[in-house]
Amino acid sequence: MNDILEFEERISTKNTKQIKKRDDPLPMQRPGVHVPTPMMKKAAMSFRSLSLVLVLAFFGAILGAAVPAAAQAKRVRDIEPTIILISLDGFRWDYPQKYSPPVINKLIQNGVRAKWMIPSFPTKTFPNHYTVVTGLYPQNHGIVENNVFDFGTVFTMSKREEVENPRWWGGEPIWVTAEKQGQQAASYFWVGSETGVEELSPSKWRIYNGRVPNIMRVDKVLGWLDLPATERPTMMTMYFSTTDDVGHEFGPDSEETRYGVLEVDGYIERLMNGLKIRELENKVNVIITSDHGMAAYCPRNATFLDEHFDFDLTERILWTNEIVQIFPKTGKLDEIYGKVKDLEHVTCWKKGEIPARLHYNDGKRVAPIVCSSEIGWITTSRKRWDDWYSGLDDVNRPRGAHGYDNRYQEMQATFIAHGPAFKKGFVAEPFENIHVYELMCRILGLKPAPNDGSLDRVRGVLR
Ligand SMILES: [Zn+2]
Repeated sequence: MNDILEFEERISTKNTKQIKKRDDPLPMQRPGVHVPTPMMKKAAMSFRSLSLVLVLAFFGAILGAAVPAAAQAKRVRDIEPTIILISLDGFRWDYPQKYSPPVINKLIQNGVRAKWMIPSFPTKTFPNHYTVVTGLYPQNHGIVENNVFDFGTVFTMSKREEVENPRWWGGEPIWVTAEKQGQQAASYFWVGSETGVEELSPSKWRIYNGRVPNIMRVDKVLGWLDLPATERPTMMTMYFSTTDDVGHEFGPDSEETRYGVLEVDGYIERLMNGLKIRELENKVNVIITSDHGMAAYCPRNATFLDEHFDFDLTERILWTNEIVQIFPKTGKLDEIYGKVKDLEHVTCWKKGEIPARLHYNDGKRVAPIVCSSEIGWITTSRKRWDDWYSGLDDVNRPRGAHGYDNRYQEMQATFIAHGPAFKKGFVAEPFENIHVYELMCRILGLKPAPNDGSLDRVRGVLR
């Protein structure tokens, strides 16, 4: 575990280029990846509930209480307009009402919230994180799913060499906009911040590692505020996977998810306490977002595509339970489509015939056939289902899923904001997550790069 303490900060100044690669002895965990092998699942399952409860209890006791860095923290007097953008993965729009996290609800009272924020399709982790920071629909920034086919290969969240390869990442993320215009950006994790290319990276960034303790992420971001003004970032991001992890395992309506929500509330409390010590709690803008919501599903509600067409007709299929991308062999598109177009509990489209509201037809990486599961259902193959679910503790208990059509209420995401730029006690009508980029540019005084969002749609949240 010492490796965590040795986890290096990557600082690239314009003069000193840092070494990008490093051998990380810890297994990588990607946000939103849930691909345990059957063996791992069987071994872990009985122990998982208990250990999660213990961990939550432990952190609950220490989370917001003490801020070790507080002794060194001084009042920060020369703060420029600054944003801390937080992602709570899978934090559904209604969790504040449903689970009453006290600190988050206080921020809502004294700041703004959207009734909900509309995620982009597909309601997956990678596409939506990158949409929030670029203002582009997934078809336009290129991360059209968590798994993407291009360049003769498949991008997945766990393939480090592809995640760090700039060829996948289109558009201009907010940290690039900031750096180009003379401000500094820093990321304690965000999808797309790890390309390692100086022109595309924040000044300070980390290679994603899910084992880095969440309170350490908070303390490091607070530490960046203690830097002298010439080195202090104005645009910072942070990421917590907790609510997605428990949501997937136990479903959005579970006691475990309630504890997960209260756990992340503790991280927000620690952050706000740290700001308060620096007399910054009303001077720094804190924006809490999520990438998507969470829906309950039961694994027995499954559509098996191998019962409907022969997979030999395809070049490849990129699977998730909620969205399936089918790449037919030459000349086989209509044959496959004819077999899947009228299935129950899943809607399959030919590219070009996807409803315009999903903004998905124009992406060059979108598959020729896209199948979107009905909410609460999964679309899979017999083999995949067996690999995932045979031998589970209880195949009938609800679990959580996302990636469905973004019209479902369960898929809606969170937008909460607090600070000098924002109104107090204001509730905004729902808006799409493409607008957050323009909003952040306005707060930081940056000229936005071309994007799909519009400041006019969200201007009402500003003072
Ligand atoms: Zn996610």
